[in-house]
Amino acid sequence: MKRAYNFNAGPAALPLEVLQEAQAELLDFGGTGMSIMELSHRSKDYDAVHGRAQELLRKLMGIPEEYEVLFLQGGASLQFSMVPLNLLAEDQTANYILTGSWSEKALAEAAKVGQTKIGASGKEGKYSRIPAQEELAISGDEAYVHITSNNTIYGTQWKEFPYTKEVPLVADMSSDILSKPIEVSQFALIYAGAQKNLGPSGVTVVVIHKDLLSRSREDLPTMLNYNTHAKARSLYNTPPTFGIYLLGKVLSWVDRKGGVEAIARQNELKARLLYDAIDQSDGFYRGHAEADSRSLMNVTFNLATEELEKEFLAEAKEAGFVGLGGHRSIGGCRASIYNAVPVQACEALRDFMAAFKAKH
Ligand SMILES: *Cc1c(COP(=O)(O)O)cnc(C)c1O
Repeated sequence: MKRAYNFNAGPAALPLEVLQEAQAELLDFGGTGMSIMELSHRSKDYDAVHGRAQELLRKLMGIPEEYEVLFLQGGASLQFSMVPLNLLAEDQTANYILTGSWSEKALAEAAKVGQTKIGASGKEGKYSRIPAQEELAISGDEAYVHITSNNTIYGTQWKEFPYTKEVPLVADMSSDILSKPIEVSQFALIYAGAQKNLGPSGVTVVVIHKDLLSRSREDLPTMLNYNTHAKARSLYNTPPTFGIYLLGKVLSWVDRKGGVEAIARQNELKARLLYDAIDQSDGFYRGHAEADSRSLMNVTFNLATEELEKEFLAEAKEAGFVGLGGHRSIGGCRASIYNAVPVQACEALRDFMAAFKAKH
């Protein structure tokens, strides 16, 4: 067996150890004589897995007591709707900072629910940078301010989160959750689809300050109300048990590696390998993001012509690299280097980039 150099944007690489553990337990989980997928979600065996994953996420992210940790379904995309449905009252406005396609989508869903405004937009500059604090229009009476912490498609990332006065800050962290230490108390709500940094697709993590739970209207559909899931420990209905099980294994893996600090150091090293390859190429490779907004998770770049990009991608594929094509909306190239992508894969890509440049 030869594992691919997997630079997929999502679903993305999982730690090999995690896959091997799951493989070893697949037919008989913990002496039950069943796979984890075949257990009742009301059983003690599953409950322990569920509770352990919630506790580990709390520990690794340093999530304070005043927050609920929810495991939901519907992806980050359902959160685009659930956030305004629960948090945006009729007489209020939600403030969206636009830093890429995912923020635009989040805004579009909120606009179906209530009043919105745009606190800043990087669209004119092709979303190549994160706005500075002085550029943000935040009046102070909004229902919440929404940001996308890492822009998966454009390859930019907030380095310092915005100051929003007294307004609760909501963040879509789908593509950089658990990639570096953050101060959870800066946020009122954090959400993330699991399939980039946390596990397989099918689970969505929501971390929500308990104070916000009182905002939800009682006439919301039951499944769309955060209170339903908070009260039931995310066991109101059948949760995605296999996904949560794997999420727990990924969290244990992060813990064993030394936690989020250790992962962050490795992520910085990986990103530096690739950005150095771009910066030291005399313009052969051109980074999309401005230097101080560069994402440590998604490295986006172009070559001189589309022809050359096509050649690059074809040869890369030939050499065993997967997932290097840019998102269909912007083209170019993108290497997604989430937590589970090994340093060695980034070194191999750096070497490939140098060799391709030398040849052309
Ligand atoms: C991938 C991604 C999404 C979409 O997630 P789904 O789980 O597919 O709904 C939303 N936001 C960001 C920042 C993403 O990277």
